[in-house]
Amino acid sequence: MKKSEIEAMNKSFGILRERKARIIDDERTIQLQKRVKGIREYSIKNMDVLVEKAVKNLEKNGVEVILAEKSENALDAVYSIVKDESMIAKSKSNTAGEIGLSEFLEDKGVQVVETDLGDRIVQLDPDSKPSHPIGPASHLRMDDIAKIISNEFNIDIKPDPRVILDIIKEDVLLKLIKCNIGITGANSVAADDGSVLTVHNEGNISLVSMLDIHIIIVGIDKLVETIEDAVSVVKLETIFASGKTVPAYMNVISSPSKTADIEQIILNNMYGPRRVVVILLNNGRMQAIKEGGECLLCIDCGSCIVTCPIYNEIGNEFGYKRYFGGRGVVLSSFIEGNESCFDSGLFTCTLCGLCTDKCPVGIKTNNLIKNLRNDSVDLNIIIDEHKSIKDRIKKDGSPFKQ
Ligand code: SF4
Repeated sequence: MKKSEIEAMNKSFGILRERKARIIDDERTIQLQKRVKGIREYSIKNMDVLVEKAVKNLEKNGVEVILAEKSENALDAVYSIVKDESMIAKSKSNTAGEIGLSEFLEDKGVQVVETDLGDRIVQLDPDSKPSHPIGPASHLRMDDIAKIISNEFNIDIKPDPRVILDIIKEDVLLKLIKCNIGITGANSVAADDGSVLTVHNEGNISLVSMLDIHIIIVGIDKLVETIEDAVSVVKLETIFASGKTVPAYMNVISSPSKTADIEQIILNNMYGPRRVVVILLNNGRMQAIKEGGECLLCIDCGSCIVTCPIYNEIGNEFGYKRYFGGRGVVLSSFIEGNESCFDSGLFTCTLCGLCTDKCPVGIKTNNLIKNLRNDSVDLNIIIDEHKSIKDRIKKDGSPFKQ
């Protein structure tokens, strides 16, 4: 990331830290943290059962479910639904980022319209990548954003947030009219109820999920038992991600749109979607669970990266795709293996443990990274300089050049 982007990101993270500091020590937050940690631990221990229940209960509610083992299976599943479209609408989704959905669809000739303001700004900037799971444009200054928008729309706009918002809103709304299919992620999935919970502040997920077909892409790690559990998880996520106690919107989606207003006859496709399709993605998560599953306790609040001294210094070069910082490094080892984990910054972490201190569910990322480093050394996937030192010790009994 450029120096100006790091500065803008640090400014944005500073505001976030201040906002959060006002509520994270509140007794209700502390109690919620305990409850959510228990919910997430239960999910990890009972994942097989939850997957089975989620499939059964979502289908019972009229939702189509596809179990995707790997990224390519999820991509194929999406493409089989969207292949006749020229444009689809999308909301923020880390899982979609994980499988490279937008790039895949654009390569196939399907235009993807990001509807989240931050994501849309990043999408319009060819030099930019998201920098925070909830605030993807945290690294861009208002001046830079105004230039991006001016270039895109061939106008000269002032660095005014309201002007920027209005231009993007108008453009996205015009494009939404042409879309039949909306793709979103999910913040939590209640297996017992067969319901998906999404959280947003802009109202964009409501628009995207009301199109004719709604596709939801979600990792199996987002499964919990009940709607009550799902609400607890997203409430804690909101507190630690934004410093607010509740988001503007929580949408519970349990079936396609339907009505029974005429003689109790069930008719689908009233105002909302005709089809709701949930793609449940494994992509290494079951393997992560076999190895303890600690990194899957994550609720995606991004609290770790706001604190991480390395992330604050180098930004999104540290991490894996939309999983930023040390936790992304750990997750990459299960999704793509040790080489990818090394490339994501396995040896960039200082093992300081600040992310662990600030994690609302107590993931010990520094310990997980330490263990992965041991594995990496065993596989000889190490930094060249470390390799030279190792070779010198073996050869001359000293790390120093003779
Ligand atoms: S332990 Fe590593 S990932 Fe965690 S805050 Fe420190 S440098 Fe960042």
